[in-house]
Amino acid sequence: MKLQNKVCIITGAAQGIGLATALKFAREGATVIVCDIKPQAVEEAAAQCRALGAQAEGHVLDVTSREQVDAVVAAVKARHGRIDVLVNNAGITKDARLQKMTLEQFDAVIDVNLRGVFHCAQAVADTMVAQGGGVILNASSVVGIYGNFGQTNYAATKFGVIGFTKTWSRELGPKGVRVNAVAPGFIETPILSTIPDKVIAQMQEHVPLRRLGKPEEIANVYAFLASDEASYVNGAVLEVSGGMTV
Ligand code: NAD
Repeated sequence: MKLQNKVCIITGAAQGIGLATALKFAREGATVIVCDIKPQAVEEAAAQCRALGAQAEGHVLDVTSREQVDAVVAAVKARHGRIDVLVNNAGITKDARLQKMTLEQFDAVIDVNLRGVFHCAQAVADTMVAQGGGVILNASSVVGIYGNFGQTNYAATKFGVIGFTKTWSRELGPKGVRVNAVAPGFIETPILSTIPDKVIAQMQEHVPLRRLGKPEEIANVYAFLASDEASYVNGAVLEVSGGMTV
């Protein structure tokens, strides 16, 4: 098992890619710390991990709240003594064209997708450095490499997350902490629910594999990057998109 006894915090883990990642990590032997803003779903996700034989616990966590992030990190450290992996997966969209986007839409996406990632990484960094190693994985997107119509705020955050990844891999690499980003293409999760079927069909046409991705196909990549098999992967942005940008 790739992640035997590794203590892994996953944000936004109540559904979609985060839930698939929690379940994959559970199958790989991790102690899974399931975090999300949805109280019931977070407990259900932790229970699903335990049903797979893993140690798992749910925490209600809004990544925009530094106090909540610090409290969860302190609780995990007190209980398990270490933090091996952080998957900064929580993310939202609030789409509008540049001329239509409200400041509320802009700020909400920056708060979760950028400030939230900063909060969580900063909260675990000292622990990882003190224990001599750790892994931070950040959710970017193909939109964070190429931009996208109607996603000024989201694209800025996903480009920003790549900036975090490159910077932290330089700062923390010498201390044994690897930092990488995953840039998924279009993956079948509730985040796509606002996109019309016609547009989804057009997206698929641009993917050489002619289909959307499955959450498990991103979870598998997170598991690889979190594991010792990726011991020389640092500062990378791994695109997982079925080749849509080729
Ligand atoms: P999703 O909407 O299905 O799940 C996101 C989860 O994050 C939800 O459970 C939600 O409750 C949680 N969340 C939202 N705000 C939060 C907050 N403030 N604090 C903690 N949790 C919060 O999304 P998904 O499709 O599974 O996407 C997961 C990540 O992958 C996101 O960062 C997203 O931007 C990225 N991504 C997704 C796709 C895709 O096509 N699905 C593509 C590229 C990147």
